[in-house]
Amino acid sequence: PPFPLKLRGPVVKGFGRGSKDLGIPTANIPLTGLSIGGHDDLESGIYYGYASLDHSTIPALTTDLSVPSATGDTAIPQRSSNHAVADLETPATAPPSRPITPGRLKEAKIYPTVLSIGYNPYYKNSQRSIEIHILHSFAQDFYGATLSLIILGHIRPEYDYVSKEALVEDIREDIRVAQRSLARPAYEQWQQDEWLFGEG
Ligand code: ADP
Ligand code: MG
Repeated sequence: PPFPLKLRGPVVKGFGRGSKDLGIPTANIPLTGLSIGGHDDLESGIYYGYASLDHSTIPALTTDLSVPSATGDTAIPQRSSNHAVADLETPATAPPSRPITPGRLKEAKIYPTVLSIGYNPYYKNSQRSIEIHILHSFAQDFYGATLSLIILGHIRPEYDYVSKEALVEDIREDIRVAQRSLARPAYEQWQQDEWLFGEG
């Protein structure tokens, strides 16, 4: 496929295997995100690219209980639909999002990332998923954040594994390949791409 491929969606709960089972957390965005721009034919495999996170879409963790609502049925503002995000289905369990302030994200941090798109044969999934491992150590989870992704290249097809150790070994190598690939000067410009700042 022609790179770059651009995807965006809210970080949702996955299969819960990334961090717990493998020691490598993978953020999931809804599969329907793959149809953005007509990439639903995207080949299964391991890819690398850049990601950004918009934390403003994470629902507030605390509620001010000192000011009870007069009616008890305060309307929760929904994020207004905008381009690609509108196509993504939000799971029924997802808490409501706070509205996005329109305009360019000034504070967006850009992270290198390695991701897999596929059935995860080792886990025998029947549906394709996108599993995004961000090459950064986060102090906290970021479920609900809007993840924007630019996929810049393909590393390898998806393999099945005889052992978890072999799978983890390959992911470690994928991470090294992604880091080496993204270090190429030609890729640097993509860190400034509007898509990663909430536009485009
Ligand atoms: P799940 O099955 O719900 O995706 P994982 O065990 O794969 O659970 O963990 C993924 C979650 O961990 C992400 O949704 C995110 O909130 C958090 N996380 C923390 N650090 C990272 C990271 N470096 N890359 C991806 N996700 C991370
Ligand atoms: Mg995951």
